[in-house]
Amino acid sequence: MPNGAGDTSTTTGLRVGVLALQGAFEAHQERLIEIGVDAPLIRTPLDLETVDAVVLPGGESTTMSRLLTTSGLFDALEDRFAEGMPVFGTCAGMILCAADVLDGRSDQRGFDLIDLTVRRNGYGRQLESFESDINVAGLDEPFHAVFIRAPFVERIGDDVEILASLDGVAVLVRNQRCTVAAFHPELTNDVRLHEIFVSSLKTSH
Ligand code: GLN
Repeated sequence: MPNGAGDTSTTTGLRVGVLALQGAFEAHQERLIEIGVDAPLIRTPLDLETVDAVVLPGGESTTMSRLLTTSGLFDALEDRFAEGMPVFGTCAGMILCAADVLDGRSDQRGFDLIDLTVRRNGYGRQLESFESDINVAGLDEPFHAVFIRAPFVERIGDDVEILASLDGVAVLVRNQRCTVAAFHPELTNDVRLHEIFVSSLKTSH
């Protein structure tokens, strides 16, 4: 496990925790380790204490919301976010970060970190899962994006920067502290989006 002080594999000195209650967390951890980041899995409030930032992975946002509450992590994360801790949310993680969620469960909770309205599973049944090469601001070559029951961005606030769109719909956006993708950037071997997120931490570190 790439955990703890003295881990010689760490080259950036950054610790980015990966929420590991449910969903596609392992591949995120692998991508982060590949780029020299210490990437502990986060399952309890204690795990959060030493991280500089977190990844909220894809999975099922309703289940994650429930497990976040029962583990005590919802409140612990909310406190860290209030202090300005950066976050990279992907797919279900995007839903957890968005200001407004359509077609969610009535008891589903979120962190309200970025001014977006997203519709759960908004690409429709026939497009449950699809892949597309998208152009990302700052990258020379397209990024192969894997969408799985992805959230559809229906509204974007003024302070939100669009890094990539697909057919006119934003799929990768950020504000100062929160970067969110509608797709799964961890499922290909391409680490460039993790690098974009991690380099934003270096400038604010
Ligand atoms: N549809 C899922 C949700 O509502 C998200 C899908 C995913 O993360 N791949 O949480």
